[in-house]
Amino acid sequence: LCRGTFTMKFLLLIVVLQASASGAAPRNNYRDTQRNETQFAEVSNDRMPKTKIKTNINHLTEKIQEMQQFFGLEVTGLLDTPTLKMMHAPRCGVPDVQHWKISSQRLKWTKHYLTYRIYNYTPDMKHADVDYAFQKAFQVWSDVTPLKFRRIYEGEADIMIGFAYADHGDFYPFDGKGGTIAHAFFPGPGIQGDAHFDEAETWSKSTQDTNLFLVAVHELGHSLGLEHSNDRRAIMYPKYGYLNPNTFRLSADDIRNIQSLYGKPVPKPDGPSPAVCDPDLSFDAVTTVGNKIFFFKDQFLWLKPLESSRTTVTLISSVFPTIPSGIEAAYEIEHKNELFLFKGDKYWLIRNLVPQSYYPRSIYTLGFPRSVKKIDAAVFNPLLQKVYFFVGNQYWRFDVRRQYMDPSYPQMISTYFSGIGNWSKIDAVLYFKRKYYFFQGPNQVEYDLLSHLITKKLKSTSWFGC
Ligand SMILES: [Zn+2]
Ligand SMILES: [Zn+2]
Repeated sequence: LCRGTFTMKFLLLIVVLQASASGAAPRNNYRDTQRNETQFAEVSNDRMPKTKIKTNINHLTEKIQEMQQFFGLEVTGLLDTPTLKMMHAPRCGVPDVQHWKISSQRLKWTKHYLTYRIYNYTPDMKHADVDYAFQKAFQVWSDVTPLKFRRIYEGEADIMIGFAYADHGDFYPFDGKGGTIAHAFFPGPGIQGDAHFDEAETWSKSTQDTNLFLVAVHELGHSLGLEHSNDRRAIMYPKYGYLNPNTFRLSADDIRNIQSLYGKPVPKPDGPSPAVCDPDLSFDAVTTVGNKIFFFKDQFLWLKPLESSRTTVTLISSVFPTIPSGIEAAYEIEHKNELFLFKGDKYWLIRNLVPQSYYPRSIYTLGFPRSVKKIDAAVFNPLLQKVYFFVGNQYWRFDVRRQYMDPSYPQMISTYFSGIGNWSKIDAVLYFKRKYYFFQGPNQVEYDLLSHLITKKLKSTSWFGC
């Protein structure tokens, strides 16, 4: 729990240098230690981008000197025996350790959507309880920041979480029951951001033994870039305290520190009713998704069940953490459970409500000319198996079965959709029961596909029973 993780980061850079620059470990009295470091260097070399290492190497001597000075060692600038020894010492209780910085900039994630993966479990607890402890621990931090966490089950997550005994492949072997109970790495690629829990501890969901949730909140604080706090009420205080996990709240100190890195959470909308019936409400994109209609607007998403007007408002990021706000066009291919979202010259595929990897892709792969910078609106016609894309006063038609843009497009919207083309720009188009619904600003028209006529003029909020 209380290891100085900045030192860890520091070590990572040093050992990489030894292995790659000098080719062989320098001689000294701590042969075993040295061998471990070299081994570790090989591991870390795979996981850290070389460019990052290189830039850090330039300042290495300086950094060693800085560290030696801080810890009152002879300032040699070399990774000598006393320096190595000092780096191996447990850091807990050395009050100034957390104030020492490897570099002047603070380590933090440069993105707000982070993934985590629990790659193994402790036998002390049920899997579901472990999952829950981490989910709640992440929520503690996402509640007070704009950060969003999504769990993944395979591949490399930003934050990899696991349990291990003793030596477990990084430079900090665990020490058996008691002592160090967990450690985590500050934000960054590869092992950075990861959190390790000592399997020698007895983990629990209660206040008996070691409560996993509380330790997880602390370690994930490190994973997000927090250092130790000397405020005894802070979860980032370096000692494990016996708090009640059920009534746990972050201290003001923890909240201040994490918000100084990432800022405050994005405000949640108050309630659906006042906003939903705002007569000036307009939408960016509208589409059916399964048995609901999704209305996209900035960072918000209105969800309306087809069979009821009980609409709820949420954040796009709380439904799809990896999808940005400001979606400009959306359509659903219902029989494949596929939802396509467009913003700028990029689009995302969401299948069975799961954003697919290898997206976003470029809209130019669909056959748009480079002059098209964004899509105003899109709609899938299941009768023709075509997608209509609206851009300015023109539209394109994409053949879903053959997967390419139909020739002889674009065409003027006014030539095919009578009464629609005189609009300057379409915000959104919805397909529902053989009708299109064109949205522009606070207005909406119902357009019958068979008669090719406007059959109703509505407010854009008509779907909410306003
Ligand atoms: Zn700690
Ligand atoms: Zn570890």
